Amino acid sequence: MANNVLVIAEQRDGVLKKTAFEMLGAGTELAAALGGQVEAALLGSGLGDLPNALAQHGAAKVYVADYEGLATYSSEGYTDTLAACVGKIEPAIVLIGATAMGKDLGPRLAARLGVGLASDCTALEIDDGRLLATRPIFAGKALAKVKLNGDPQVATVRPNVLSAPEPDTGATATVETVEALIDNARAMVVDIVGAGEGEIDVAEANIIVTGGRGVGGPEGFAPVRSLAKTLGAAVGASRAAVDAGWIEHAHQVGQTGKTVTPNLYIACGVSGAIQHLAGMKTSKVIVAVNKDPEAPIFNVANYGIVGDLFEVVPLLEKELQALLAE
Ligand SMILES: Cc1cc2nc3c(=O)[nH]c(=O)nc-3n(C[C@H](O)[C@H](O)[C@H](O)COP(=O)(O)OP(=O)(O)OC[C@H]3O[C@@H](n4cnc5c(N)ncnc54)[C@H](O)[C@@H]3O)c2cc1C
Repeated sequence: MANNVLVIAEQRDGVLKKTAFEMLGAGTELAAALGGQVEAALLGSGLGDLPNALAQHGAAKVYVADYEGLATYSSEGYTDTLAACVGKIEPAIVLIGATAMGKDLGPRLAARLGVGLASDCTALEIDDGRLLATRPIFAGKALAKVKLNGDPQVATVRPNVLSAPEPDTGATATVETVEALIDNARAMVVDIVGAGEGEIDVAEANIIVTGGRGVGGPEGFAPVRSLAKTLGAAVGASRAAVDAGWIEHAHQVGQTGKTVTPNLYIACGVSGAIQHLAGMKTSKVIVAVNKDPEAPIFNVANYGIVGDLFEVVPLLEKELQALLAE
């Protein structure tokens, strides 16, 4: 129905991404303003109880394609399956997380549906019956408010910016099976090889501890990694550290790295260049450790510690270890 909001709920290995819940929260408000309901589409294999979790976070109906071939993300398979599903149910708005998967899927799906796309949005509202999406542009220096012509209105939503609703454990949803259209896909994912085994991806992390040129060399990342381990955090890096070959590019945060919005971002020996800020400025709480009190990173930091990171970071870790042990 043309007043409904459809959330594409991403899962990996049977675990729903937090963005799915965040979008259901936003989708509920958008649907209420349109006089419709929020629904979810869930693709994968062995999805078990996941539709129930989506119901508990607001989905009135869940469209499920549970098929072996959809176990890992497939550009063609997911686009074909979702395009058919969206074409049939005709929602007013389609929301997709601006995750690695969503950044691939969103433009493909919009193109397939012959409509525009508002990408990497940080706020969503209804204005005059249409979606009004806010998206950072020019590396976060300005915010654009965009409206899309055509239906459905498709948007990708930056993870960790919107808040997820509290689950209502009594809520249920209608579940409808949709056909998986993947068997004719021209390309299949045959294997996924993780970068560093056991390492948390910065794009997914709730807490990130980042090292910049100030760490001085590959071995200088030791206190950064140690603090990250204590906090269960991902290790981030500035481009200067990556370009110097001290750490792999997968860790890079910024304009030419990853855009992150963790709850806590600890920048150690990072000056705060505009291209770095572009990737992490929307973090909820920013802590900066830098020996230069004039470093621009302090302009965006909620907490700033002026000092040598090799002294400050181990002390910080010790204090946090004591707090976590309480
Ligand atoms: C097109 C383009 C794209 C770019 N994309 C990115 C990007 O994606 N990500 C990114 O990060 N950059 C990017 N850059 C590079 C960016 O402009 C900066 O050069 C880079 O972010 C600087 O990294 P840094 O802060 O680690 O190093 P620096 O600017 O050299 O800062 C190092 C900081 O460490 C401090 N320091 C030194 N020693 C210590 C110590 N012992 N204890 C505490 N503090 C110490 C210094 O005071 C200084 O502030 C891009 C640039 C361009 C032109």
